[in-house]
Amino acid sequence: MPYRAPVADYEFLFRHAVDFDRIAATDKFAEASEDVVSAILTEAGKLCEEVMAPLQRNGDLEPARLENGVLRTSPGFSDGWNAIAEGGWIGMSADPEYGGMGLPMTLTTAVNEMMSAACLSLQLAPLMTQGQIEALEHHASDELKNLYLPKMIAGEWSGTMNLTEPQAGSDVGALTSKAEPNGDGTYSVSGQKIFISWGDNDFAENVCHLVLARLPDAVPGTKGISLFLVPKYLPDENGNPGVANDLKVVSLEHKMGLHGSPTCVMQYDGAKGWLVGKEHGGMAAMFTMMNNARLGVGGQGIGAAEGAYQQALEYALERKQGKTPSGTILDHADVRRMLMSMRADTFAARAIMLANAAAIDMANATGDADWVSRAALLTPINKAFGTETGMRVSEEGVQVHGGMGFIEETGAAQFYRDVRVTAIYEGTNGIQAMDLVARKMMDGGEAASRLLDEIEDHAERARGSMPELAGPVWEATESLRETTEWLISQSDMNTRFAGAVPYLKAFARVLGGHYHLKAALAEPNGTRFKLARFYINALLPEFSGLLVQAQNGADDVFALSAEEMVAA
Ligand SMILES: Cc1cc2nc3c(=O)[nH]c(=O)nc-3n(C[C@H](O)[C@H](O)[C@H](O)COP(=O)(O)OP(=O)(O)OC[C@H]3O[C@@H](n4cnc5c(N)ncnc54)[C@H](O)[C@@H]3O)c2cc1C
Repeated sequence: MPYRAPVADYEFLFRHAVDFDRIAATDKFAEASEDVVSAILTEAGKLCEEVMAPLQRNGDLEPARLENGVLRTSPGFSDGWNAIAEGGWIGMSADPEYGGMGLPMTLTTAVNEMMSAACLSLQLAPLMTQGQIEALEHHASDELKNLYLPKMIAGEWSGTMNLTEPQAGSDVGALTSKAEPNGDGTYSVSGQKIFISWGDNDFAENVCHLVLARLPDAVPGTKGISLFLVPKYLPDENGNPGVANDLKVVSLEHKMGLHGSPTCVMQYDGAKGWLVGKEHGGMAAMFTMMNNARLGVGGQGIGAAEGAYQQALEYALERKQGKTPSGTILDHADVRRMLMSMRADTFAARAIMLANAAAIDMANATGDADWVSRAALLTPINKAFGTETGMRVSEEGVQVHGGMGFIEETGAAQFYRDVRVTAIYEGTNGIQAMDLVARKMMDGGEAASRLLDEIEDHAERARGSMPELAGPVWEATESLRETTEWLISQSDMNTRFAGAVPYLKAFARVLGGHYHLKAALAEPNGTRFKLARFYINALLPEFSGLLVQAQNGADDVFALSAEEMVAA
């Protein structure tokens, strides 16, 4: 059973979980009618099933390589990129003024997730390009926008993001790359960047790098960082790729997975670049790209989960072992438990991701501060829970396969290896959780509280028709509220940080319960109800243990001295 795009799941979620009608009712997204959405999801599904999914194994078996400084991508990836570009998929949400379609992020996020399931390593290339498009739309000069955006939106040129340096990973403020003004409005950018995804390719005519660097008068830390657009080839007077810029790919990393995506060490030696945004305002500009990528990376995890689930189900339907009614392992209770968890968690994570994207759309369409803070609150939860779900589900996918899961030819292990990095890049999941309990609670927990009110109101209304599901969702939400208030009352940040990851997971569990309850109400006699009942009975209860961990404080985690930690 090859990959099947979950179009029906999206249509259902758009209608019943994230109130897509509300987005389509705004002037900005008036074109996104139900018919248009359906047609787009179906078309994207076809591309994923027919063009991208067949490339998934190529990336793993024949990784990108560097030959005498020239990057060669995996077999078929160039055709895959061209199909994505020609279909207009890169610029789905980009500004129509520059050739984009101006569609809601909710729709783009759904399409991106399907592409991740089909071929994660190739999908990272358009995802990076989309992030750069958004950053340029918001922060670049008109001149840069006019030159670069149409080419990137059309997929003629691709984009990358360059933050990381050997001494500057999570601590971006430690970066030392430099930019010297040339006196003509351009800058000379020098330094080494590591781990740059799709730092080069052999399918786009130009590769445009967004590079964080310091101007000569920059203060230390993040406040002294500026952002530069540094193309592989300098555009000539007609805007076509001209002479090569002073930059190169030094080497490619050998990785645990995601082999089809070249992860590059980049060297900039006085490369010509253009400032994007204000001097020393680089982090603000880069955050536009990072938030876009965080939404997308959550989707990468969910895509991998979907792919892993489909493959495990196919195996379970055929593998005969032991005495069961069907003769296959599908009828063993433990295999059922794994498959139900995989499916129920994928649904929960997908709903959270779409709620995040929908909040971004509503914020963009209305400018309403409540939507802005809702989007900000959901971003770390979506990124961390989406990628956790990808790891957990793909790990269970290996387990469903038994020994064959450990044998590479089934492809089950590839999902697991490929998705692992999604919990690391775009801000590790630990950093996401810290963001949730610190920056996202700087409003005194107001945005969180508003969301919890909505969930409780909904559960309260559902008590009449579905008390056995609504009750546990209400109670879990109330416990989450109490822990949220406790966290906010802690002035010692280490107390918050020590419990941040379990707190984020508990928050996601509660949100998952909310969306499953909505699904059950919409389809009380069908599959959705049964899946919701499984989630609420079997998976939601995890929240209580997680909330205990969240409130345990920092004393225990710091209890051993460094000497005691190394001692036998
Ligand atoms: C395959 C791949 C692709 C990548 N693509 C890109 C790219 O395109 N562009 C780019 O710029 N970068 C990219 N990265 C880099 C990636 O974003 C970093 O690896 C990531 O941000 C973590 O930084 P680090 O590896 O230095 O880990 P470190 O920062 O050293 O972190 C190590 C551990 O310490 C924890 N930690 C660190 N600081 C804190 C803190 N303050 N509080 C609590 N815990 C902390 C982390 O959570 C982690 O568990 C990529 C990485 C990989 C592996």
